[in-house]
Formats: sequence, C-alpha cells, structure tokens
Amino acid sequence: MTDAVPIDDFLAREGFATAWARHQGRAILEQSGLTRAGKSGIAPEKLQRAREALDRGALRTCGDAECARLGARRLDGRLAVEGPAEHCEVCHGSNNRRAALVLADACRSHGVSRLLIVGGTPANHAELRDLLTATGVELRCVDGAAQNITKKEALSDLGWAQLMVVWASTPLPHKVSVSFTAERPADLPMITVARRGIAALCQEAALAVAGGPASRRRR
Ligand SMILES: [Zn+2]
Repeated sequence: MTDAVPIDDFLAREGFATAWARHQGRAILEQSGLTRAGKSGIAPEKLQRAREALDRGALRTCGDAECARLGARRLDGRLAVEGPAEHCEVCHGSNNRRAALVLADACRSHGVSRLLIVGGTPANHAELRDLLTATGVELRCVDGAAQNITKKEALSDLGWAQLMVVWASTPLPHKVSVSFTAERPADLPMITVARRGIAALCQEAALAVAGGPASRRRR
C-alpha cells in the first residue's frame, strides 16, 4: 500500500474538514465497506467509489442557518455534515444563491410565484433568473435604463405580478419607476429595496413574501 492515499486527507478534500466531519465521513466509508476500523490509507482505485459513497451518505452544508434549514429537507436519510462553504450543497459558497433559495422557499410556502422587478441591469436580471431556475418562481424584469415602457406594457406586468419590487439602488429613471408605481393596483404589494446586490434584493423580497414588516409598512 505504498501509494495509498491518507483517508483524512481525502476526506478533507471532499469537504469533511473538522474532526467530527471526518469521523462522520469515515463512518460512511466503513459502512460502505471501503475501509475498516484502524486503516489510515485507501487505495487510489477506490477513491471514485468512496466519493460516491460520501455523496449518498452525507449532505454537506456550510453551517449557515439558512443552508442548514433548507438542507434538512433534502437529507433523505443522509448525515448532515458541516464544512467549508465551497462544498455546501445548498449555497455552493454563494451568498446570492443562498438568498435566492430562501426567496424561492418563501414564495413556495406562501403561494407566490410571479415577481415583477422594476430596476436593475440586464446582468442582474440574468443572474437572478439563473439562480431561480427550476424553483417555480417566475420573473418579469424591467431594465432600469430602458426609457420606452408603454402604459400598456406596465399595466400588463402589474396585472400579472403578485409582488412588485422597486430596486431603487440601481439606475432607475423616475420616468420608468413612475409608470409602474402610479398604475399599481391597490392589491399588489410593493416594496422598495434600497440596498445593492442580488442577495439584498432576495432577502427583502423574501421578507415581503412572508408578510414581513417591509410589505405591511409599504402596502
Ligand atoms: Zn451554504
């Protein structure tokens, strides 16, 4: 076994970084018959099978409370293992992804699926759409720099949406925002997000969807 890989090193590379996580990872490998008590190395040809066993046996999260909460629902009998953020199966180490998933979760719980985002750049919108892919949340986004929104288009978007988010920290000419705010139906909740960034937008929208203070204050 001169070319054996130290099991602890292998586990650390797979996101089992703490002593407790290594203990959990090792238990999975032992249960899968890939190693046994007392062995410190593993043959390289077993590593692929070992990785597959770890995937089947453990759900790795970064330890963030939201990742732990969202991850708990997809445990499916797996061990919950905390480790480095880049191995987190929920956020993949991205605050934006985590916030988008929290928003999608709030939408699912409260029967909301259609969000109208007024403001933001095409790049922001593309990232948001990407993060919300396959979550059931639909977006209509109004480019803050677009100057040619007709009243008819605004009314169509407003009639469709279940929540309007005015993203005020991004380039948003008054002429564009007012075409939406002035025509907003009384029963369409609206929030204004003053902070920059996808994560901030998602966090505030999630609070509003869940009926948090932001939506009650501005309804
Ligand atoms: Zn995470």
